[in-house]
Amino acid sequence: MESIISLKWAHIQNCYLCKQVSDNLICETCENALPFLKTTLEETVPSSLVRSASAENLLTLPNVSKALGNITFNRLICPMLYRWPIDFMIKQFKFSRSDYLTQSLCKYLLHDLELQLNDTTRPDIIIPVPIHIKRYGTRRFNQATLIAEHLSHGLAIPLNTHFCKRQQFAFAQSQLGGDKRRKNLKRAFSAEPMLGIKRVAIVDDVITTGATVEALSRAIKHRNPHINIDVWTLAISDKNLGLD
Ligand SMILES: [Zn+2]
Repeated sequence: MESIISLKWAHIQNCYLCKQVSDNLICETCENALPFLKTTLEETVPSSLVRSASAENLLTLPNVSKALGNITFNRLICPMLYRWPIDFMIKQFKFSRSDYLTQSLCKYLLHDLELQLNDTTRPDIIIPVPIHIKRYGTRRFNQATLIAEHLSHGLAIPLNTHFCKRQQFAFAQSQLGGDKRRKNLKRAFSAEPMLGIKRVAIVDDVITTGATVEALSRAIKHRNPHINIDVWTLAISDKNLGLD
């Protein structure tokens, strides 16, 4: 699948979505129609809140922090809603490992991060949400790591895949509802003490219920109570914005 998607675009140079001739994987017309979070927020939230919330920290929006519940991470940065065609592209990326798709999907998150990060908010390390070794065995890659590698390269912040581990083989999270996800994930991660680290960024592809990133955040804070945690994700589902 990877080679089919990559070669198709490389040779024919058509937009991945509308199939029109394009210099980029996503043409300008399709790009303008992507479900940017900022656009949706501007339609639903007082404009004074949007500028700071959408780019700097989504948790400053009352609806988002309410929907995510009792969370331990400190900041959430996400450029897109998990709607068509981003949902389609992320699903394709999950099972195909296309470099073009990785670059294309990371572009908007990287843009927001480049605008927002400064000397005081810049994390010391980037941690992709780990997958269990058994799942790694069947899928052969961790999509969160691919995204984190891309961001690490773009931002010149080290990637770390050693401090945090997935403890147990859980059911595929996509098959479970919110409560079951949380139970399933309660002891799913372990983290080591991170000496000298003040800020970390957890990276995942999508936030659906928020349970996965929260479970990892909890594990990190359990061993590192004073650490500051960012969550960076490509897309977030509507229900976390109180929109559904
Ligand atoms: Zn297009």
